[in-house]
Amino acid sequence: MKDHLDMFIETAHRLKSSGLVSDGVNKGSISYRIDDDHILMSPSKISYDDLSENNTNIMNINGDLVEHNAPISRDYYFHLEIYRKRSDVKAIIHTHSKYATALCLANKKIPFILYGMKFHCGGEVDIAPFAFPNSTECNKSIIDHLADRKAVLLQNHGLICVGEDLINCFETTEFVEALSESYIHALSIGSVYEIEKWKEVNYG
Ligand SMILES: [Zn+2]
Repeated sequence: MKDHLDMFIETAHRLKSSGLVSDGVNKGSISYRIDDDHILMSPSKISYDDLSENNTNIMNINGDLVEHNAPISRDYYFHLEIYRKRSDVKAIIHTHSKYATALCLANKKIPFILYGMKFHCGGEVDIAPFAFPNSTECNKSIIDHLADRKAVLLQNHGLICVGEDLINCFETTEFVEALSESYIHALSIGSVYEIEKWKEVNYG
């Protein structure tokens, strides 16, 4: 079993190598719940390629710094709010990935259009109305529209995915980005039909 820090850094590297994040202002953020009260947070201004045990931060659930090794990402506001409201969440990934962000700019949620969304996303991927990033209003919008699911789009911003562990969270992020690309292509060539009565569907 890998140490949580190794897994955290490996997940950050996978996000970068898969093209889900880029350097600089388009980086997003990633966090992991070490225990009930401690959160490992990616820093601001440092490439995921360069993440190490020497430049990650640890905060408690109230936002107090426990280990301060690098510039703080202000995204911790919504990461901590999600951890406070969702005890099942152990990892959070926020990206500005290309296709998911295109849907955010067009203010389009992803309705339930593929069976895989039930497993990977917990249903549809709703879109949270715009609020100033890292404000109380923004946190409320995220919590309301994430609900009990695993992914939410943020209008005019990007994507947030949550998971029971880092691997699960990464897979959801990868899935939603690919789904967003397919959905945008499908919309450009015709109508996209929602799967009806999905709550009654049991496909294993
Ligand atoms: Zn962002």
